[in-house]
Amino acid sequence: MKRKTIKHKFVELMPDDIKEGILYISIPFATAIHRCPCGCGELIVTPIKPTDWSLNWNGKTITLYPSIGNWTLSCKSHYWIIRNQIYWASSWSNYRIQANREYDRKKKQQYYGKKRY
Ligand SMILES: [Zn+2]
Repeated sequence: MKRKTIKHKFVELMPDDIKEGILYISIPFATAIHRCPCGCGELIVTPIKPTDWSLNWNGKTITLYPSIGNWTLSCKSHYWIIRNQIYWASSWSNYRIQANREYDRKKKQQYYGKKRY
């Protein structure tokens, strides 16, 4: 069953036991981890970086941007986490996944390229 909400928990270190329905956030390690909310329970790691995900905490709820697309998993789930709500997006076609990867690569290249001077 697909989840519609997720809680968040700020941690120093990631616990060994990552529970479903909780987004664990470690500021020192600039990483968030959760289990795929589609029900498959796979571990999803989202690095918080200018080239990866942004985390917005408004004091009460969290928002991750952009969306999370688990293309490498068999479930291929795609969703947004906005103010602790999970918004399911339609599964992307292979073409779109490919195009998105390309966009991602370029974005990283640009970012790291700029930093090098
Ligand atoms: Zn899944």
